[in-house]
Amino acid sequence: MGERGQRIGIMGGTFDPIHNGHLVAASEVADRFGLDEVVFVPTGQPWQKGRQAVTPAEDRYLMTVIATASNPRFTVSRVDIDRPGPTYTVDTLRDLRGLYGPGAELFFITGADAVEKMLSWKDAERMFELARFVGVTRPGFELSSAHLPEDAVSLVEIPAMAISSTACRARVVAGKPVWYLVPDGVVQYIAKRGLYAG
Ligand code: ATP
Ligand code: MG
Repeated sequence: MGERGQRIGIMGGTFDPIHNGHLVAASEVADRFGLDEVVFVPTGQPWQKGRQAVTPAEDRYLMTVIATASNPRFTVSRVDIDRPGPTYTVDTLRDLRGLYGPGAELFFITGADAVEKMLSWKDAERMFELARFVGVTRPGFELSSAHLPEDAVSLVEIPAMAISSTACRARVVAGKPVWYLVPDGVVQYIAKRGLYAG
């Protein structure tokens, strides 16, 4: 950490649970942009998720660690979990900028569903100064950069993985398998902790 010129991807998410769609998106962007590392950053108390109950941060954090453990270029950061209050991307970027130093190039990776809301995010202008943004395709969502600053946002087509955390949770509730939708260790962690069982 702290070396000059490192190219760092940042994959923020609720990760409730992390699934193979997240991992494929991160892997594809890492390849496309020659990233040295992708940092997965589970959210603290999620905003824009209404009053929906979200799995405790420690469980979401551990599932993210399990899912990324086998990839030497994937790491997990607790910055959003350890910062009190709702998670804002601008704070995530400020914290990671502090950790990786002024020489690092930051690439914030976000799905098509989130891209269209980006301008409404807190301190959007500052956000675009702190990092480049990479919008990735996601089945069921149109990827459009309309109205977004052109030089700050790149769009990347990734292999379609029609997986969402919502669908994974629903499958567990219904007693259906989530094998191969989430990494093996995450399947076992969900069972061991009795997550989503209702
Ligand atoms: P939920 O259904 O609970 O909202 P999710 O599957 O959308 O969960 P998040 O943790 O909300 O997962 O997503 C984190 C980031 O990953 C977001 O930017 C989202 O757009 C992106 N993402 C999620 N699933 C996919 C997928 N299958 N393909 C590409 N990007 C994805
Ligand atoms: Mg989502």
